[in-house]
Amino acid sequence: MNLNTPLSEALSTKKEYILALKEMGLYTVSDLLLYFPRGYEDLSQFKKIWEAKDGEIITTKGFLHGIKLVSTKNRRMKLVRAMFYDDHGSECEVVWFNQPHLIRMLPMDKEVIVAGKVQYQYGKLILQSPTVETIKEVQIHAGATVPIYPQHEVITSKWLREKIYPLLFLTKEFEEVLPEEIIKEEGLMPKSEAIREVHFPSNTKKLKAAQDRLGYEELFLLQLNAVKAKEEWKESRSSESPVGGVPLDPEFVKDFFSTLPFTPTGAQKVTIYEILKDLECPFPMMRLLEGDVGSGKTVVAVMALLQMVKNGYQTAIMAPTEVLARQHLVSISKFMEVFEKKFPSKNPINIQLLVGSLKAKEKRTVLDGIKSGQVDIAIGTHALIQEGVEFPNLGLIVIDEQHRFGVKQREVLVQQGSPHVLNMTATPIPRTLALVAYGDQDLSVINEMPPGRLPITTKIVPPEHRETVYRFIEGKVEKGEQVYVICPLIDDSDVLEVKSVKKEYEQLHDVFPKFKIGLLHGKLKSAEKEAVMQKFKDGEVQILVSTSVIEVGIDVPNATMMLIEGADRFGLSQLHQFRGRVGRGSVQSYCFLYTDSSSDLTFTRLKAMVDHTDGFKLAEIDLKLRGPGEVYGVRQSGLPDLKIANLLDGILLDRVRKAAEVIVEKSPDLKKYPVLANMLQKLRKKMEES
Ligand code: ADP
Ligand code: MG
Repeated sequence: MNLNTPLSEALSTKKEYILALKEMGLYTVSDLLLYFPRGYEDLSQFKKIWEAKDGEIITTKGFLHGIKLVSTKNRRMKLVRAMFYDDHGSECEVVWFNQPHLIRMLPMDKEVIVAGKVQYQYGKLILQSPTVETIKEVQIHAGATVPIYPQHEVITSKWLREKIYPLLFLTKEFEEVLPEEIIKEEGLMPKSEAIREVHFPSNTKKLKAAQDRLGYEELFLLQLNAVKAKEEWKESRSSESPVGGVPLDPEFVKDFFSTLPFTPTGAQKVTIYEILKDLECPFPMMRLLEGDVGSGKTVVAVMALLQMVKNGYQTAIMAPTEVLARQHLVSISKFMEVFEKKFPSKNPINIQLLVGSLKAKEKRTVLDGIKSGQVDIAIGTHALIQEGVEFPNLGLIVIDEQHRFGVKQREVLVQQGSPHVLNMTATPIPRTLALVAYGDQDLSVINEMPPGRLPITTKIVPPEHRETVYRFIEGKVEKGEQVYVICPLIDDSDVLEVKSVKKEYEQLHDVFPKFKIGLLHGKLKSAEKEAVMQKFKDGEVQILVSTSVIEVGIDVPNATMMLIEGADRFGLSQLHQFRGRVGRGSVQSYCFLYTDSSSDLTFTRLKAMVDHTDGFKLAEIDLKLRGPGEVYGVRQSGLPDLKIANLLDGILLDRVRKAAEVIVEKSPDLKKYPVLANMLQKLRKKMEES
């Protein structure tokens, strides 16, 4: 037997269990050994029965006697009863529900350890459904800190303990993935020991060391991947690529600033500086610009575009939808117009739109303009990086709200000469998480809002106030304001979600018979979606009902109200994203969070929305309360599930990052570290497939 032995051969068990394991993604011995507990129950402290309080879970030693099977009065339930005598001479009754087979299995009159819940009934002490284990050299179910595995109908923690324990001797076959020097420097536990300890900890200290060790490895591989990807991107530029460094000229930046209708915030200035510094380098930039909705990312992007255009390069800006691309066209053209008026040049900047819905002839013209190098700024959708688009001289591409930009798309960019890349996102991802999920990019953060914004008023609306809020909205819509209604997220089911949004749409016709209502959901064709959005933008539709597909970045200043149904179902950062659709004009905006849930956790989470307007703060709270997968924008990054690593530990992350950088520096192609190279390849494959 070895790590690759299929579980069907390694375990003597029923087919049913093997099937269940497959369902859980566990096929081989290795899979099973790497299936880690989600927590532990400390059953290591022995207690005397008479010390137990009502409702307490206790572990105690003694023996069972006089087992019998009885039926309850109505014969619905079979009970197994026995007496338990502890080593100190006290006794109690023990009962198990509906497990008649126990009568054959439980060891009688032999020393055992039992662990279970104690309950006082009619003044009598009863031990309910305890775990029983005969005394051996090692205890795996009781008398120790015992592992609790993720819940499953068929595969119980007890079952897993029994199957995993005898296989632990194979842990020594796991390859040591981390380089020796790192294990030494960081004082990490050997991998095989860590796997054993994480299942069956000898003590709390060793458990912590095991978790640190396994968490370190998870983070290390991700960081190694990030550092490598970063290097590869830097080196992707071929010798004939047009991109070279363009010098930062402070006077030019001042000139541009002097044409703006506002003074840039400190954060905007800092990020502009970081970007212009990158553009000075002879290798391509890969930078992520994070900034809350409305923090003013556009002007930062415009400065970068202008810098490249003025130095003779072509540029492009890519948005996820046509509506957003058109929006960019309008605002960017405006910035450029004002600039050119004040600082005229012989060659006016040529800005063109490239989107799927252009007529063939228009498209031809734009494509020709791009190919001949006449187009300075191409603004568009994915159409920009499709076949047939040839930039002879692309210096910079700005990608707005493209959460996922995998290796494949990067290949396309390499074909376009590896331009500088600026990714922009309104998703506030805490720094630690960004380092893991987007670690292959440099990070710039706009952490400051332009002054003078009216904060959005956020309210939690309990069911009894629903009507009042509707009438409030009605009053505002009559004055010409607009409202978004977001429907609840329904567990990954598009079909149900569409059903629910349609129902909401129907109901709202009764609530607001006077107004025009639009409907937006993921099953609409993209042209249909765009049409609805456009109508809302033009004010033809006053109420827009939508699933969570509502576009990030859509700008309708006249929309002042956001109503979110089933608000408890969304993560905080996503609620914050929704809320960012309003509060863009000069009128007071509102966000109403509807919820039927009265749980404390719901209240705590939604109250955070009322108390905080800072998206980073909210994302952090979310990360703490619900874990990384729930932070909006992270799931799309292709980040695999982390089993153990703690993503809130910034100091550890920095250390891991450094270690990865050292390794790549020592052996850029990882030839010196064949095991790492192999693991990295596997990780990449997994991330591309996700
Ligand atoms: P986002 O980061 O969401 O893309 P935008 O770039 O669209 O934000 O900016 C939102 C609004 O704020 C725009 O109308 C923009 O002109 C304005 N704005 C940007 N920077 C400033 C600033 N420093 N002071 C005042 N208004 C600003
Ligand atoms: Mg924007």
